[in-house]
Amino acid sequence: MRCPFCGNVDTQVKDSRPAEDHVAIRRRRFCSACGGRFTTYERVQLRDLVVVKSNGRREDFDRDKLERSIRIAAQKRPIEPERLDQMISGIVRRLESMGETDIPSKTIGEIVMESLARIDTVAYVRFASVYKNFQAADDFDKFVSELRPDPKADE
Ligand SMILES: [Zn+2]
Repeated sequence: MRCPFCGNVDTQVKDSRPAEDHVAIRRRRFCSACGGRFTTYERVQLRDLVVVKSNGRREDFDRDKLERSIRIAAQKRPIEPERLDQMISGIVRRLESMGETDIPSKTIGEIVMESLARIDTVAYVRFASVYKNFQAADDFDKFVSELRPDPKADE
């Protein structure tokens, strides 16, 4: 498994155990190149979701890609890894339970932003700034001033 921090492919599994009531296997991994630690989950793919981009292009939903974008946004933020994992699983479950195989990329982006806003404002802003492709500083400031995160609204 490639290290999400430095790209090294030689990472070690430190620990494996059942997770989410035995729906998944959780593996803690360690990168000997950069010392990074990360967690992977092995799970049954319940449904094959298709992401429909704004230009109409379709591609298979890639959980790892979603996870990478969220981890980049959350990098070096004081967020429990466990909490982030739960959030990502929650997002995927929500997508899977929408009753549609085709999901607009916009919907996924909004669900991610909504979830991140609840746990970390900075991670949210980072994700949103990439997602919305803000270019003018004015827009960005306006956007930040509109943030109203409520850390207690998570559960
Ligand atoms: Zn690494």
